[in-house]
This record gives sequence, structure tokens and C-alpha cells, in this order.
Amino acid sequence: MSSDSPVPPSSGPWTLLVHGGAGAMTRDLLTAEQDATARAGLNAALDAGVAELERSGSALDAVEAAVRVLEDDPHFNAGRGAVFTYEGRIELDAAIMDGSSRDAGAVAGVTTTRNPVGLARAVMEKSPHVLLSREGADRFAVEQGVEQVEQDYFMTAERRRQLEELKARPDGSYYDVDMKYGTVGAVALDAQGHVAAATSTGGLTGKRWARIGDSPLIGAGTYADDRGCAVSATGAGEFFIRVGVGHEIAARVRMMGETPDEAARAVFGEIAAMGGVGGVIVAAPGGGTAIHFNTPGLYRGKATSDGERQVAIYGDE
Ligand code: ASP
Repeated sequence: MSSDSPVPPSSGPWTLLVHGGAGAMTRDLLTAEQDATARAGLNAALDAGVAELERSGSALDAVEAAVRVLEDDPHFNAGRGAVFTYEGRIELDAAIMDGSSRDAGAVAGVTTTRNPVGLARAVMEKSPHVLLSREGADRFAVEQGVEQVEQDYFMTAERRRQLEELKARPDGSYYDVDMKYGTVGAVALDAQGHVAAATSTGGLTGKRWARIGDSPLIGAGTYADDRGCAVSATGAGEFFIRVGVGHEIAARVRMMGETPDEAARAVFGEIAAMGGVGGVIVAAPGGGTAIHFNTPGLYRGKATSDGERQVAIYGDE
């Protein structure tokens, strides 16, 4: 999973941001246990990413490591604990992008890979392509020796309940029943001044017709460019695809000289005007960051080489 290159000399500060999905999280909606397990998961993801920033010094390694932890955590909608499709299956999407080279890899609708973000990285490094999907991506995973699991591994009782609740709705409403999206992602700036982004998700509860969201689409839910910034998004993917959120934020930083926060706010203005909800995390060379969301909450965490460390869930913290 990690690059074998020797640790380069550190020169600048590093930053790591993670998210575990945007949604309707408020203090009265989450139980104390849900609050605590989410914070523990975000902290574990930060620990894994920081360890890579200190070990290999690579933003790319850091975002992959952080996302792997959240994929393995059944409380988030990625890897184990992913949401169910309408047919009661698990179909996973993920992407990773290296801002120094703008190399990128992504997978959509994979069904047996334990850590889709690792498979996305294999697509980036071991195939001539950027995006592989469904059976082909599953075959590529086997060929590459990427760890495979049974579908049962991903399935949790709570996600099955959410699918049943959605199917019982008279209005056929499509977006997640409890509006907690739960997609996971990470962005990082390493000490060499390179940024990277990764995102992983089960998509939306009850998705059908091989629906693909924004997460595995380079430029939508995931983007990284050292000339601009790295972005990972969560929310109602159909809006994020149409706005091209990741690329749009990076392009505004690169070409208009906006800060990550200014760019994220401007792009979220567009998302909101179209009726979309969600959140983004952004990290730029130079150290600028943004965490922006227009939902009541966003599972999120941040760690920096200056010793700043925080995890948060609600809009008022
Ligand atoms: N953005 C994801 C999608 O549309 C969902 C999420 O953020 O949880 O697939």
C-alpha cells in the first residue's frame, strides 16, 4: 500500500483532514454511543494518516491509510458498513488522486474488494486507466492480488434496516433515509508541498440501475492538483457531479487566487442554489485548508504538524 521510497527530508509543515460524511447529525439525534464511536473512528483515521506522513512523508500514502481505517469501520458508509443497493447488495465506489503528478485511479460498483481505496490506487499505479467499473474492476482486483472478501463482510444489520425503511416509504424518496451520508474521505498536504485526496463510499441507500455517485469521479467528489488544492466531497452526489465540485474548487484556487475557504464557499453557493447538500474538505500547498458543509453536521477531523488536532461532528463545534 505504501511507497517504498526512502523518507525524503521534511521541509515544510503537513496537514491531514478526514471526513466520515455529511448529514443531519445534531446533538439530539445522535446517541452518546454513536457520537463516541464516530469520534473514535475519525481519531483512528487521523492516527493512521499521520503515521504515514511521519513514516513515508507522502500525502498519497496518508490519504490512503486514513481512508482504509474508515472503510474497515462499520459505522461509516464505505467498505464494511456500506449502504445496501435496492436489490440488497453492496456496490462500492472509491477514488484517489496524487496532486504532484495528477495521476488518479478510481473504481465504481466493486463488490468483493475489502478496501476499494487500495484498489483505486492499484488502478492508478498498475493499469493504464483511471476508472474501472463493476465486474471488470472486480477481475482486475483479483489479478492484482488485492484482498477479496465475501459480500457478507460488508453487510450490517443497521444498513439493512435503512434499506427496508426506504423501501417502505410511500413516496419512493431516494436519498438516504436518515440523511447521514457517511461517505469517507481524506485530503493531505505533505512536508514536500504535495497534496493528495481520496474518497470511498457505498453510495446511496437503495441505489439502482448501477448508479454511480460523485465519489469515484475525478473532478467531482475527488480531486488533487498541487497548483490548486486537494478536495474530497460527501453529499448528494448528483449535484456534486453536475457542478464538478472537486475540480471547480481547485480551479478557483489555481486561477482566481482564492483561498480554499473562499473557493469552497463559492462552489457550495452553487450547490445550494441547485438544491444540493453535503460537505467538502480541502487542503492546499501552502497550508490553507477548508472544511465546509451545508448540512447540520459533518463527521470530520484535522491534524497538523504544528500539533493542532481536532475531531468534530456538529455544525456548532
Ligand atoms: N456522495 C456520495 C454519493 O452520492 C454519498 C455520500 O456522500 O455519502 O454516492
